[in-house]
Amino acid sequence: MTNDKADSKYDDLIKKLKIDCKKCSGLCCVALYCTKTDGFPANKEAGTPCKYLDTDFRCKIHSGLADKNYKGCLAYDCFGAGQRTTQLYLPDGTWKTNSEQEDKLFKIFISVYQLHQMLWYLAEAFTLTSDELLIPTIELLISENEQMVQQSMDHIAMPDLSEYRLKVNKVLKQISTEISANASSNQIHGINYLGKNFKKANLDRKNFSMSLMIAADFSGCSLRKTNFLGADLRDANIKNTDLSKSIFLTQMQLNSAIGNSNTKIPINLSRPATWEK
Ligand code: SF4
Ligand code: SF4
Repeated sequence: MTNDKADSKYDDLIKKLKIDCKKCSGLCCVALYCTKTDGFPANKEAGTPCKYLDTDFRCKIHSGLADKNYKGCLAYDCFGAGQRTTQLYLPDGTWKTNSEQEDKLFKIFISVYQLHQMLWYLAEAFTLTSDELLIPTIELLISENEQMVQQSMDHIAMPDLSEYRLKVNKVLKQISTEISANASSNQIHGINYLGKNFKKANLDRKNFSMSLMIAADFSGCSLRKTNFLGADLRDANIKNTDLSKSIFLTQMQLNSAIGNSNTKIPINLSRPATWEK
């Protein structure tokens, strides 16, 4: 996330979107459907605990995830939905002590995840736009989001987010267009950049939203205001690369890419522990 408007009024909110696994009960390791092909230890149904989830909700093989190449586990990030669900809907216990409500709690976690993901993008959108008319729209969407997260258990377990998602997507599209309008003329077309070598290219303000960029090579590229919204960056080479001013990046995208100690990252993201020193 960039920081164009210094001291954004949403700085505290952004902090809440960072994962805090100590305040959670391993919700992601239970609630989600996982597959071996996505880099998890085994195929498992949603609602079934992973066999490596310990009784204290820690991962029994956490220190060995990289050696075992469990990339799905290493990359996953819930935008703080795990601890938020726990704080709001499980204040005195865990999903284990609420066995009658278990299924509902897992659905709530997934709803909160979706809302927090949109909140992450909206908070960044707020810092990026120079359109004074768009600012109140973003503020309203953020406030609506907060209200939806705190609905009754029945509502948040089965929310209809389609209309809200459309409104968020419209804002993000508007901002993406505003930023890429000033991109240099050597446009790069398409959405499939699987394994592409960008060869130190100037990719400033390019719009790569929703692009497939698995194993693409960005080393030495200029990436100011390059838009990575929803792009698949698994195994992308970002070693020795400056992404500090790239936009709409998430922690999960960084976790799944290959960086090193010389990779510069946006101010609100954390350096993955698995990157080369
Ligand atoms: S759901 Fe989020 S906070 Fe909970 S264990 Fe998973 S990543 Fe951590
Ligand atoms: S291996 Fe560990 S991190 Fe991965 S799903 Fe299982 S308990 Fe969670």
